[in-house]
Amino acid sequence: MGRVAYVNGRFVPHAEAAVHIEDRGYQLADAVYEVWALFDGKMGDAEGHFARLERSLAELRIPMPMSRRALTIVLRETVRRNRVREGLLYLQISRGVAPRDHAFPGAETPPSIVITCKAVDRSAAQAKAEKGCAVITVPENRWGRCDIKTVGLLPNVLAKQAARERGAVEAWFVDELGLVTEGASSNAWILDSDGVLRTRDTNANILRGVTRRTLMDVIAETGLKVEERPFTAEEALHAREAFITGAGSLVTPITAIDGKPVGDGAVGEVALRLRSLYIERAKATAV
Ligand code: PLP
Repeated sequence: MGRVAYVNGRFVPHAEAAVHIEDRGYQLADAVYEVWALFDGKMGDAEGHFARLERSLAELRIPMPMSRRALTIVLRETVRRNRVREGLLYLQISRGVAPRDHAFPGAETPPSIVITCKAVDRSAAQAKAEKGCAVITVPENRWGRCDIKTVGLLPNVLAKQAARERGAVEAWFVDELGLVTEGASSNAWILDSDGVLRTRDTNANILRGVTRRTLMDVIAETGLKVEERPFTAEEALHAREAFITGAGSLVTPITAIDGKPVGDGAVGEVALRLRSLYIERAKATAV
């Protein structure tokens, strides 16, 4: 059996799955999304991603198309039909299909839902993490509501492509004060020269990463010190370690920024330990 997608109430072969050309997600990026990491076929950090989904929808005044309970059933069924154990589960909800007009359509227009699921090679990802990855920096040029997880990702797309072309896995956005905001698809962290774990505070214009939040709880149990305080790219280069977090990257050590080594250039031991602890926690709490 091949891959299957859920589109507006139906499970269809992935290759044939499609939305209408007047779907507002397609036309106007008038849509939100969520991504869950799957561990042994179960959703990691399920609650955090649901809560953020509901918040993103509420901020954009898109109604939740079905109850959380019903949505959970459909999400799980998508995972089951795709027979994915280790992977990623993607959900997109748009404001629906309506004749193109910037203003909202009438309340009779139902939101559109798309769900896809894919397998991830976690041992390859682990090997990559143990080798360390590179990031580049790019000027922050996104809109002022990066706390909403919308599909309007063009600056992120361009930043990620620039990273790819320079042999890096991620691009860190840097604001006009020279402070790192976050990655194109991850949150940015350092273990600074004083041994304090630091990541940008959520009053800044960043996505409130669910992995970031859970990792804070994990860190609290280790006795390590953590502060929600911004850092510059220069500080990151002089830090002991740097890493990124996200449903895709989990916790991934960063060993180079713009071609220069972070600290002594070695893969961060603390970052790798936090990666193991995070995965342990996510597996134990996955539903
Ligand atoms: N920041 C951005 C811009 C992202 O796109 C993502 C994830 O896709 C994250 C941060 C990390 O968020 P999470 O840990 O909830 O996956």
